[in-house]
Amino acid sequence: MKITGITCSACGAAYEMAEAVSVKGKPGQENCGMCGAVLAQWHEPGLKAFRLVMAAEHRYARVPVPPSPAAAV
Ligand SMILES: [Zn+2]
Repeated sequence: MKITGITCSACGAAYEMAEAVSVKGKPGQENCGMCGAVLAQWHEPGLKAFRLVMAAEHRYARVPVPPSPAAAV
């Protein structure tokens, strides 16, 4: 079992990708559960499992969002 950390290039959510070398899977792709962008694509018949580690909004949760000027109009 090989575990690789990957990050969604679209929204920044962090995932762990576990690759099982000894288990037969099939080619496919995994989409980001947060924004739907393609996280990874593979063509070899390996089994891959994805686990969301940290959502992008949690990662930036401590950064205060300034009030939008448009809300005051
Ligand atoms: Zn994403």
